[in-house]
Amino acid sequence: MLSVLRGIPASPGIVVGPVHLLRWEVPEVRHRLIHDSAIDAEIARLHAAFERTRERLRHIRARTEAQAGPEEAAIFDVQLGILDDHELAANVTALIRQNLGAEKAFDIVLLEWRQHFGRHTSPMLREKVGDLTDVHIRVLSILLDLPDHDPVDVPRGSNTILVTHDLTPSLTMQLDRACIAAIATEAGTATAHVAILARSLGLPAVVGLRQALSALHGGEVAILDGAEGTLLIAPTEDEIDEARRRVAEEAGRADVLRELAHSEPVTQDGTRVIVRANVDIPEEAELGATSGADGVGLMRTEFLVVGRTTMPDEDEQYRAYKRVVQAFGGRPVIIRTFDVGGDKLPVGGFPTEANPFLGWRAIRMCLDESDLFKVQLRAMLRAAVHGDLRIMLPLVVTVDEVRETRQLIGEAVEELAARRVPFRADVPLGVMVETPAAAVASDTLVRDVDFFSIGSNDLVQYTLAVDRGNANLAPRFTPFHPAVLRLMGQVQATGAANGIDVCVCGEMASQPLAVFALLGLGLRQLSVAPRAVADVKRVIRGIRLEVAHEAAQAALATHTAREAETLLRRRLRAELDR
Ligand code: PEP
Ligand code: MG
Repeated sequence: MLSVLRGIPASPGIVVGPVHLLRWEVPEVRHRLIHDSAIDAEIARLHAAFERTRERLRHIRARTEAQAGPEEAAIFDVQLGILDDHELAANVTALIRQNLGAEKAFDIVLLEWRQHFGRHTSPMLREKVGDLTDVHIRVLSILLDLPDHDPVDVPRGSNTILVTHDLTPSLTMQLDRACIAAIATEAGTATAHVAILARSLGLPAVVGLRQALSALHGGEVAILDGAEGTLLIAPTEDEIDEARRRVAEEAGRADVLRELAHSEPVTQDGTRVIVRANVDIPEEAELGATSGADGVGLMRTEFLVVGRTTMPDEDEQYRAYKRVVQAFGGRPVIIRTFDVGGDKLPVGGFPTEANPFLGWRAIRMCLDESDLFKVQLRAMLRAAVHGDLRIMLPLVVTVDEVRETRQLIGEAVEELAARRVPFRADVPLGVMVETPAAAVASDTLVRDVDFFSIGSNDLVQYTLAVDRGNANLAPRFTPFHPAVLRLMGQVQATGAANGIDVCVCGEMASQPLAVFALLGLGLRQLSVAPRAVADVKRVIRGIRLEVAHEAAQAALATHTAREAETLLRRRLRAELDR
């Protein structure tokens, strides 16, 4: 058996602890016929399984409410409601009366229900599929006496490493952080949202660990190294000692980085670069504010929604945005409107989409659901009173989307004025450039927007036609492909020619090599993970723009990502070692 599994580094940190395997999938159910005389006992077994499932859900609900709050806990009410549905019990009982074993009868009814709701025209009802699936798994696990794989039920304080095939952002949000110290997934890549979220939560993570589930039993001790992208199974005492020594060393290095984080990001030839932070959850505001960043270049508001069954209302959103704006005390805070869809879905999601990344997501959904969108816009305009808040739109492909948003902002202004609550009407509005359409035709946007922010994660995905979350494609996902570098250079040039700020807020902006390339392409604003601020400043402070410019020009002239990367790496090393 392999003792070291190698995956993709997703979030740094070393954790020594027991492995908890999470197999959150509907188990196989054998066809089993029962005798007439066993029918009543089988029905009683079904009801007992329902009752045990209810007890477990109530328990998890109470714990979630205490740890995360009432909105997060409400997810479990939907599942409790399904169990209490008389039609469900009646349909399953009818099949048991036709001599089917309880587990098969329940399996058939749930499959039918999930199919029925999955095809429903109402998005609200389609969203129920996720909850039905959870109930399907929970009840069958009890009826079949399977080990408990509940993702929200792991012993507290155990430093557990959660290993699973894939984790949705909503499941990640629901994880009990008092128990889970690290995550490892078979699927995923460094720019998948689960990896981004793990970094925000400060959870060490390795993704793309193919075959991890078959190599593990659960319960064994392992060492996860999020920076190396490895999972060492059943380590020796010496290996554990070595890991603990490295944890202490990292803590020591953190002091040095803290100092660097508060230095000025000025290049060797005297240019001040703006380094902002990406904030994914409001709780990250304070960490971000003390990270040495010049404000927030991207706040991903959809993490207020994923993992929940209801949308946050205006007041809740206002409080979340105000918290971030106030934490940054007057520094710019760019808040992105909901980028829900793709792999960032509320509980239940939109399961009928064949291509969610090309689907009804982000600005498209917000403009179609304008009442929901205006709740967010009003909350932002109100929070803008407390500092320098700016609004940013995701996944823009055409200027019409900006114009329609301005129209809705106008309506939100009127609504707030009528309510006589404090707000600001003159909030800057910018767009993410993360589709080839927006990049190639960035000149069509300049008259209507106040700033551009390049979302390199999606720009790479859409330009190279490489799913950002697919572990099998991870080596093909690269921002150094000449097509991507050229698009970014073009956007920067359009911005400069029209006096519009251009920032890069995708994950590449946190990588030293990419920082060198981006500065060389002319970019002077980056927004990075708070924990990467120090490292990014180290690169900025170590280079001359003229050298970066020449390297970027040479990279633009290469024919492959590998050539570009090799060239940039050589020149950056020479520059830093000077
Ligand atoms: C991006 O696409 O680069 C980006 C910053 O947005 P997200 O990662 O949230 O899609
Ligand atoms: Mg994006």
